[in-house]
Parts: sequence; structure tokens; C-alpha cells
Amino acid sequence: MKTLYLTTSKEDIEQAAKIIREGGLVAFPTETVYGLGANAFDEEAVAKVYEAKGRPSDNPMIVHIARASDIGQLTRLLNPDIVELIDNFWPGPLTLVVKKRPEIPDRTTGGLDTVAVRLPESQAARDLINAACCPIAAPSANLSGSPSPTRAGDVAADMDGRIDAIIQGEDCRIGIESTVVDMTGDVPTILRPGIITAEAIGAAIGKAVKYDEFLTEGSRHVQLDPAAGVDEDDFAPKSPGMKYRHYAPKADMLIVEGERQKVKAEIERLKNLNRQYGNKVGVILFEERAFIEAAHDFFAQLRDLDGEGVDLILAGALSETDGVGFAVMNRMLKSAGYNIVRV
Ligand code: AMP
Ligand code: MG
Repeated sequence: MKTLYLTTSKEDIEQAAKIIREGGLVAFPTETVYGLGANAFDEEAVAKVYEAKGRPSDNPMIVHIARASDIGQLTRLLNPDIVELIDNFWPGPLTLVVKKRPEIPDRTTGGLDTVAVRLPESQAARDLINAACCPIAAPSANLSGSPSPTRAGDVAADMDGRIDAIIQGEDCRIGIESTVVDMTGDVPTILRPGIITAEAIGAAIGKAVKYDEFLTEGSRHVQLDPAAGVDEDDFAPKSPGMKYRHYAPKADMLIVEGERQKVKAEIERLKNLNRQYGNKVGVILFEERAFIEAAHDFFAQLRDLDGEGVDLILAGALSETDGVGFAVMNRMLKSAGYNIVRV
């Protein structure tokens, strides 16, 4: 398949919208990461997204809308907390998991009776959804398992020849995916951390918000460490995406965690050691507490280091254990397959 390269001009967005309406696949920019979109109500189109990404079909997609009022097309049940979060955080990087309308195809929601919905802030994304006249189901526009794409070139590297079109917009402002919060239980539950923190969500609705147990420290190793002896079948997180290896660079990766000076020294020592034995080493080390910059640059740095053909990536852990630092560490740990040393 020949992939069409489009801009964010009005004519190009129209053309992209037509592709979506006709059941095709279009990658488009959002403020979080680039998405790979299909008509959320078109089962066959959604099936093609899984195919293009090589994504397991039980991993549901986020459905993107262009106006808050369009959420009614996806759910019939809007409680006061949901409305409060919409008022406070949309458009923006917050995805709400709500009870789904029966009309939404099972393929879009991975067979769940809930649907994940987001109203992106990105103008190009909203123009596309508006012009397509349908909600757009979109996971990140990368091959399943590889780092999320935050630049148009990253999308092209993974998706050229696999999808109908790529809208080449600006680099993503935020750089990590949206916060996903499950609004279907008694207590709102963070399924995926992001820039919008649990504290901010809790403050908006005036009640406590919890993290899904699979995100918290105690079960960190359970997710990906086969040596922990956890049977795949026993592992049933609420967000199916959490059980798959994610964001992995081609290189091996090791995180160094601890007091700042010690981390720097250990990274230096490991770098020299590895180089002595012929390994090409790349380093990811953000300024202390520069969480927003870390979110913005992390995936791009992984991809750039892969582009340079490094064998090993050494990354300094961020110090914050909740908030935005926590969201970036969630990605970093997955990228490294939970490979971490403490100094
Ligand atoms: P991506 O589309 O790559 O940004 O990933 C979307 C994330 O949202 C994945 O981790 C999914 O598992 C999660 N997700 C999507 N829909 C639902 C849902 N209905 N319930 C729980 N998690 C969901
Ligand atoms: Mg993804």
C-alpha cells in the first residue's frame, strides 16, 4: 500500500477525513502522541488498525471526539464526576473509561462493556474528527511494542506502506500518552498515569482517586518479570494494554535508580565498562525534577538512540514517585522491561 503524506491544511484534512469515512486508516498528530485513526463505528476499519500495528486484539482503543457533547454517542451514563472531569480537563490529555453504548463494535473496545473516550486539545486532531463526522478510534501510531511516536518522522518510520495516510503535523507538545481513569467503579481509578495527575483529578471531583493496583510499586515486578512466577492467565489488569511489553527500544536498556550523584557516577562507570567490551552505549539522563521535559523528550530519545544503532541504553530514574515523574517512570520501566539497578 502506498501511504499518502498530508499536511494540516484544510484541503488535506478533508482528504484524510474522506479516507476515514471510507474505512481507511490515517495517522494524525495529537498533543500527547501521534494516533492511528479509524472510524470507531466501522468494525472492519478498526480491525485494520490492529493489523497495521501488529496489536493484540484484546487491547482496546481510545475513541476520540471533537466536541464534549459527542460523548453521548458513546455512553448513555454520565454521572456528576464524569461531567466534572469533562468540564475541568477537556479538551486535553485525560481519557475517561465509561460504560459503553451497545452500538459500539466489540472490536473497538476489545470486547469490554466499557469505552475509553478523549477529546484532544490538538486542533489538527479535532479538525480531522469534525471533518470525518464520526468518532475516531485511535491507539498510538507505532508498531505494537515499540516506543510511541511523538514526531511525524517516527510515524513514517513505523507505518509507511501499512496505512493509507499520515498527517504530518508538529511534534507532540506533551510527548507521553493521556492519563486513563476508569469512571465505572465506586472510586475513580487511574489505569495509566499521565500529565494530569491523580491529585489534580481528585481535587476536581473532591474525592479520593486511586491507582490501579497493577501500577503501584508492590506489584511492579509482577507485570513483566517472568521469574516472579506469575501465570499469564492470573494477570487480568483492568486496562488490557498493561500486560503487554511496551515502548521497547531495539537496544537493551537498564535504569539506574538512586541518589542523583551516585546515579550519574554509576551510569558513567557502566558506560565505560560496556564500551571497553565493544558495546555502543547511549545515555538518557534528564535534569533533576525536569518532569515535563522528560515527558516531552523520552520517547523521542529512545527512537533517536535506536537510530544511532546503540546496543545499550542507560537511563537515570526520575526521583518523583507520583505526579508527572511517576507517569514518565511508568514508561521508562516498561521500555526497560523492568530492568533496574539501585545504587
Ligand atoms: P493506546 O491506544 O496505545 O494509547 O492505549 C490505550 C490504553 O487505554 C491501553 O492501555 C488500553 O488498554 C486502555 N483502554 C482503552 N479502552 C479501555 C477500556 N474500555 N477499559 C480500560 N482500559 C482501556
Ligand atoms: Mg500505545
